[in-house]
Amino acid sequence: MGPSMQMSDLRQGLQPEEAGNDMYRMISELYPLCRSLTGDGVRRTLASVARVVPLDMHEVPSGTQVFDWTIPNEWNVRDAWVKDRQGRRVIDFQVSNLHLLSYSVPIHRRVTLTELKEHLFTLPDRPDWIPYRTSYYTDNWGFCLSQRQMEALEDDEYEVCIDATLEPGHLTYGECYLPGQTQDEVLLTTHICHPSLANDNLSGISLLAWLGARLSGLSLRYSYRLLFIPGTLGSITWLARNEAATARIKHGIVLSGVGDPGPLTYKRSRQGAADIDRCVAYVLGAAGDDHAIIDFTPYGYDERQFCSPGFDLPVGRLGRTPHGEYPEYHTSADDLEFVRPQALGDSLAKLLDVLAVVEDNRRFRNLKPMCEPQLGRRGLYRAIGATIDHQSVELGFLWMLNLSDGDHSVLDIARRSGLSFEMLVRAADLLLTHGLLEEVGDKAA
Ligand code: ZN
Repeated sequence: MGPSMQMSDLRQGLQPEEAGNDMYRMISELYPLCRSLTGDGVRRTLASVARVVPLDMHEVPSGTQVFDWTIPNEWNVRDAWVKDRQGRRVIDFQVSNLHLLSYSVPIHRRVTLTELKEHLFTLPDRPDWIPYRTSYYTDNWGFCLSQRQMEALEDDEYEVCIDATLEPGHLTYGECYLPGQTQDEVLLTTHICHPSLANDNLSGISLLAWLGARLSGLSLRYSYRLLFIPGTLGSITWLARNEAATARIKHGIVLSGVGDPGPLTYKRSRQGAADIDRCVAYVLGAAGDDHAIIDFTPYGYDERQFCSPGFDLPVGRLGRTPHGEYPEYHTSADDLEFVRPQALGDSLAKLLDVLAVVEDNRRFRNLKPMCEPQLGRRGLYRAIGATIDHQSVELGFLWMLNLSDGDHSVLDIARRSGLSFEMLVRAADLLLTHGLLEEVGDKAA
């Protein structure tokens, strides 16, 4: 008997509903923290994640050059407010951290309403929502508020205070490496830089944390690298510090916006037909739920950096409703009511199914390619047992033997034959143990 391959059922025993509730609880805990590109909100968030999955913390000093970018000063806020002449806080960071323009420079002075308005941001067509705005690379200060709140401001003098520090410090990110049977890696990332926004940011953080907790207990073929990084600059920083290691990345997914009730959406890698693109398309198609597959564009989340032409890694992006296509995006309405435990659980279950296909999508070579080997004589049909549909397993044997030329993967054979991936893996396993197939390594990239 030859070697056997164990079918990877990464979802085994998962209760999506329960997992969704766990993820939702983490989102609720982390929701009040004031995260940004840098600072203590990010550190506290990562400390929470580290209670679920083992995490290495990295601190990269301000001023460090990463490709064409420079790590900026670190930003931390104690308090921020605008008071009227009676000393009442008419805009208050303590009520919502979205009220403060992220990376506002410290300031404390009196201003007229006209001057104040030059530093206010609202959403006129969503008059009750607070927008989320940043000013990472331009020195500025400002407040975000609802249109109604702004309209209520009287023509008077106001006291503005932003009690913050913007000083040399660090950019912080978290990394979890789970070694597998090979050094080939699957890269999974999410951004960690948004303040009180539930779907855009916290859903990805909690999904990746719980995914890591599950993977860390399993014996896997690939090594897994999980990155919790500030958007854009975090991926640029990681790539700058790990350029050589990127050769080991065989598959990757950026996770973002995985908790809203919309259907799952997968954005292909720049390569367009990388194994990961085909694995995700297969799993979402086979599941039969509403979903969308969209082509790569150089706009979006950290896939922009992983798919920049100098790297061109096989990294796609998985989320539910794409950013910018739901009105709550980057506003105070992306809150704890907008994300659903059920959607989080479904995202985790489907992602585990994708990774199971990635794990099992091997290539084989037929060791008896001159005419069909005589299957009955080898007891292959007996090995199937009585409970399974014999005819389709027999078809599985024939397809696996015919197309296993070292070039076609199991997924290629599934797509061409119309047989299920799981069925073909089972057929491959039996052919392998009967010495009719041998596994071949990954094709050179
Ligand atoms: Zn965002």
